[in-house]
Amino acid sequence: MFDQIAEKLRNAKKIVFTTGAGISQESGIPTFRGKDGLWRNYDAMKLATIDAFYENPKLVWEWYNERRQNIFEAEPNLGHKAIVELEKFSQVVVLTQNIDGLHQRAGSSKVLELHGSIVKIKCTVCDYKDEILYNFSEIPPLCKCGNILRPDVVWFGEGLPQDVWQQAIDHAKSCDVMVITGTSLVVSPANTLPIYAKQNNATLVEINPDETIMTSEMDLSIRSTSATALPELVSIFKK
Ligand code: NAD
Repeated sequence: MFDQIAEKLRNAKKIVFTTGAGISQESGIPTFRGKDGLWRNYDAMKLATIDAFYENPKLVWEWYNERRQNIFEAEPNLGHKAIVELEKFSQVVVLTQNIDGLHQRAGSSKVLELHGSIVKIKCTVCDYKDEILYNFSEIPPLCKCGNILRPDVVWFGEGLPQDVWQQAIDHAKSCDVMVITGTSLVVSPANTLPIYAKQNNATLVEINPDETIMTSEMDLSIRSTSATALPELVSIFKK
């Protein structure tokens, strides 16, 4: 299986990685779903919607401060780094649902953050946006304009940043291989990206320890974690 995928990668002009929470799991950042997923212990609707935020901004910010701290302390793993290594040989684009910035910290040069970034914050009212690399002691934090600041992430029920999403579709539609790793493919519209890639007859590769709802659509699958499978794949690719 690794040899077959490596061959596809060698022949590809453009490789797109579609990634999700699972690729950062081995950096110590919990996923949402699955065995140790966050939604086992927390109610998404009380923490990750705009209504929940306005109802109890302090609670939501407490939760985000904790997740921000965890992400500030995390390091990119061998899976993130293997993707960077491939840039030496092909055009590589990362379309990520992750909000942790670990692909960029690993060194990936082309990353589209479909769901925003937990490191970034924005005002709920004015145009203020910033990247803040520490936790807020006063929560909810306030903007200079007096209104509440929020994490610059896409919550359930909110639209994706349209320019980013449009670029993601364009990359998906023009890739030769799409490697889908660390995502359960249940969150829409990100889970439509493999369908756009298929329109270009791209080879779909899934790397995930578990099957997903789209496993049957994949051309090739590896049942392993990303920090194990991706470095192995890249080393076979380079032979
Ligand atoms: P998800 O939690 O729904 O699914 C995680 C997937 O990763 C599962 O299919 C699981 O089998 C797989 N997985 C678990 N460990 C893995 C590993 N070591 N290697 C490879 N795969 C592994 O995650 P999702 O599909 O990204 O869900 C989308 C939402 O979760 C997004 O909105 C995203 O913003 C958010 N999220 C992001 C982070 C992060 O930024 N690190 C963390 C938690 C949730």
